Amino acid sequence: MKKESQVLVGMDCGGTNVKFAIVTPEGKILESKCAAVDYKEPAEKVIKKISLVFKNFIKQSAFKKIQGVGIGIAGDIDQKKGLVRFSPNLGWNNINLRCLLSKEIPYPLLIENDANCAAWGAWWLDAKKDCENLICLTLGTGIGGGIILNSKLYRGATGSAGEIGHMTIRYDGQPCKCGNFGCAESFVGAWGLIREAESGLKRELAPILKKILKGAPQKKIEPKSIAEAAKAGDPFCQQLWQDTGERLGSILSNCVNIFNPERIVLCGGVSKAGSLLLEPALHTLGRRAFAIPAKKVKVTVSQYDENLGVVGAALLFLEK
Ligand SMILES: [Zn+2]
Repeated sequence: MKKESQVLVGMDCGGTNVKFAIVTPEGKILESKCAAVDYKEPAEKVIKKISLVFKNFIKQSAFKKIQGVGIGIAGDIDQKKGLVRFSPNLGWNNINLRCLLSKEIPYPLLIENDANCAAWGAWWLDAKKDCENLICLTLGTGIGGGIILNSKLYRGATGSAGEIGHMTIRYDGQPCKCGNFGCAESFVGAWGLIREAESGLKRELAPILKKILKGAPQKKIEPKSIAEAAKAGDPFCQQLWQDTGERLGSILSNCVNIFNPERIVLCGGVSKAGSLLLEPALHTLGRRAFAIPAKKVKVTVSQYDENLGVVGAALLFLEK
């Protein structure tokens, strides 16, 4: 890639850090950077810090011809106004991100929901040739969702579409950060998984997980340690993945029955459990969804993984 070539920049604002990447129009990352952010500070201060890191990143970069900066952020986004209406994870309400960033960053800016960015990235990078309808689920702390319909990112009437993680799957379930009860993400997201593993440990039901945590440097339960314990034969953790997979399968079957997609792409930390999660999920999908669309859909774990969001954000500039 020549230094004078036009490039795109992606920014992915996660719960604890911001990722920046300079990306080619083909989706290849040329340079990247990650910076820690504390969202407990006032939004204006956080945005000022993000701008500063961005400016230093671009200053040190070999690529100067920037078409624009796409920004992915969790929450309900008004793309037209560049407004973050509501982001429970970041604690932001009605923050005009584009307006505040444009004071510091002299390039065209696009603001989009982070899971929508991941869906757009997943479709653009390896599905656009033979797939018109794709659902992307980011299985991280919560569950993000993005929908591609007829080769376009589907935003709905107010830009809020795709909140698959906040589908109510138990009408009397646990309270969720969004204000609802019994949301899908409390059953399949990492925080739900960790909560259940903690309860198993307290009841002395997960001896192998207990042993693994004793040897872990931070003694913190993570989806990775729960997967490790299950693979080593911990029956409680095996059952936990079985249950989580079946719940995910129910969510997938809802997606298949509603959207009839050719592809469902999974990404994020929980998706790394691989067959522990995927096998029961696919079995449940086959059992619950309509037969023909269930047979048609291909469910994969993204190979791009944690870069999907930042690359997808940059590639928003290629949306027509
Ligand atoms: Zn919710």
